[in-house]
Amino acid sequence: MSYLYSKLLTNIVLPLGDVLTRNQIMKYYNLYDKMQWMNKHSIRAYQDNKLIETLSIAYKEVPFYNNLYTKHGVDINSIKTINDLHRLPVVTKSDLRKSYPDGCTRSTKFPWREYCTSGSSGNPFAVRVDNETMSMARALMFLRADYSGWNIGDPYLQTGMSLDRGIVRKLKDILLKVEYASAFDLSDRVLDMYLDLIERKKLDYFMGYAGSLYCVAERALAVGFNTPLKGVVSWGDNLYAHYREKIERAFKCRVTDTYGCGEGIQIAAQCGRDDGAYHIFMPHVALEVVDDDGNPVPPGHGGNIVLTRLHPGAMPLIRYWVGDIGVKSGEESCPCGRGFELLAKVEGRDTDVVVTPRGNRLIVHFFTGIFEYYKSIDTFKVIQEERSRITVLIVPCPNFRLEHWESLKSEILEKGDPDLHVDMKLVDEIPLERSNKRRFVVSTIRS
Ligand SMILES: [Zn+2]
Repeated sequence: MSYLYSKLLTNIVLPLGDVLTRNQIMKYYNLYDKMQWMNKHSIRAYQDNKLIETLSIAYKEVPFYNNLYTKHGVDINSIKTINDLHRLPVVTKSDLRKSYPDGCTRSTKFPWREYCTSGSSGNPFAVRVDNETMSMARALMFLRADYSGWNIGDPYLQTGMSLDRGIVRKLKDILLKVEYASAFDLSDRVLDMYLDLIERKKLDYFMGYAGSLYCVAERALAVGFNTPLKGVVSWGDNLYAHYREKIERAFKCRVTDTYGCGEGIQIAAQCGRDDGAYHIFMPHVALEVVDDDGNPVPPGHGGNIVLTRLHPGAMPLIRYWVGDIGVKSGEESCPCGRGFELLAKVEGRDTDVVVTPRGNRLIVHFFTGIFEYYKSIDTFKVIQEERSRITVLIVPCPNFRLEHWESLKSEILEKGDPDLHVDMKLVDEIPLERSNKRRFVVSTIRS
């Protein structure tokens, strides 16, 4: 039955939904699903073609890249493969921010939306993403979930930050058998509701932000929850070793972590290997690990992650400095049989959970979900040193006004906990942690 339902969704219902909503999710899902089993040579050839196409469009249609490559004296015709990428200059968020939107976007025939992201850097930053790029990213969201053993149509619980699901999303939730849970409120009462939902609706899979999965797992262990799941998929913040251990113990199954960023790029997912390496979604993104000057570092060595989305879309991202640290794996193949290259490790999403006076748990996405709408804030960091109080460090943009803070603060109180004392401190900069990482929620107390 579930096999038939999965086929019905994959082959008929979802493709029809794509037509009605002007998306192409299933087209790309089928492509990526097939490509992951191809040999590396063929996947590389596909990447190289996509790179040449993306570069040529960006150079012709996007002033930002045209000026950049002209200034650096790069002949883009000499860039023929992924291995040539290192000859192009890297691009930072602040470079793009300066020329947004007119200088770094282009028009495509698809409708687009602006996504504001705090990503892991803490800097709100706008990216224009069109429907085609978003379809690719959504296709990869299905694929990343597949790596846990989940199939389209298997019922699951998902935590997230979008409270208003809208009609299309609600319909999709019903068809895909998703129970959607808000990660804004993670108090004991709500966590018990989620555990109850898993049992009552016989949900076999659980997906969401690593921090929220951890909070649910902690509660499950505390109340003696005893229903094994088949798989857990995490994303967003860092899946620490102690998060993984607790989640796997609570739900008696494997957690497969995934790596993506809010800029319309899904990057990689774990396939369940013991060493925890991630398969990079090669048809969608070229991932380089480079030193501080942008030069490639060999596999096995840590460096900065630089991404090239292999599709120009409404805002090309070529050698984009995402702000995370990673290590490529030297292994050429994986026992699971997938041909996508391996990323041994990714870091840079380190955060803590803030436990409030009333017992709510605020994960990093609680804060980014609020801060990303305030463009007058350059960077922020939340520090909790006592249970009743948090201090928010803010690096303001020139257009920052005190009203922005007032409204932000009331959102934190309303969605988080009205009993929390929230202080603000304006600062000129927030120093990075070791190895250039930014931890933007730090709690020094243990719940
Ligand atoms: Zn694998």
